[in-house]
Amino acid sequence: MLAGAVDLARAAAEELALPGQVGEHRGVVVEGDRLLTHVFESLVPGYRGWHWAVTVARPPRGRSATVCEVELLPGDGALLAPEWVPWSERLRPGDVGPGDVLPYVDDDERLEQGYEATGEDADELAIYELGLGRARVLSAEGRAQALTRWYEGDRGPLAPSAKAAAAPCSTCGFFMKLAGSPRTVFGVCANEWSPDDGRVVSMDHGCGAHSETHGPEPMSLWQSSEPVIDERDLEVLATHPVAPEVVASVDDGAEPADSADGPAAGTDEPAVDRSPDQA
Ligand code: SF4
Repeated sequence: MLAGAVDLARAAAEELALPGQVGEHRGVVVEGDRLLTHVFESLVPGYRGWHWAVTVARPPRGRSATVCEVELLPGDGALLAPEWVPWSERLRPGDVGPGDVLPYVDDDERLEQGYEATGEDADELAIYELGLGRARVLSAEGRAQALTRWYEGDRGPLAPSAKAAAAPCSTCGFFMKLAGSPRTVFGVCANEWSPDDGRVVSMDHGCGAHSETHGPEPMSLWQSSEPVIDERDLEVLATHPVAPEVVASVDDGAEPADSADGPAAGTDEPAVDRSPDQA
């Protein structure tokens, strides 16, 4: 009787689904005594491999089936969402924006027990700088992770700008050393012209804004180019000595007979004998 209650099960599924989203009847699954599930194909967009499961039951000595529950369940090969990962584990460095608050991690390996302040003390500032007065301070592991990350990052000696730099940060006037043990390797760049301004840089990092290095001289706006001499095409010209009468007429102040072919006055240049095609 339960196996024959297909129409009852379909009506229950269609009541939950949108029109046209309940497909063919695929069979039944016996769940127990007087308890059975009808399976229908799912036509819900995006739910490939899923099926509608309508569980029906019959009470002892009952004569009709009753719908217990209707579900959309994944089958073999169904398209499923990725496994849920809490947001605190999904976060990555750089994801925290203004106003965001990270979850408190009690057993963070990068921190260790500090010595908290117990009251007013004139030396409280000095104590704080020593690492006292805070509930937790950087552990050796946390310090090593940070220093390694900085040194191997974009502001260490392997950065392209460091390789191209003429001098390291250690000799730059804008280099402000960190306090504590990192002072032997790291400082903060205080040059607003540098791309690393306000960032932790290693002593062997560097950039083009180093205080003691100089770039090339400023280029003038007008760049004169070298003359280009084309030596592949040669024009062969016949020359002859200057005629005496031409020289005399030039000395008298008169125009030479053919000034275009004669030498310039006062020069020793030979006259050029041009052919009609060359004139
Ligand atoms: S200006 Fe350049 S060389 Fe000088 S400290 Fe900053 S990053 Fe280093």
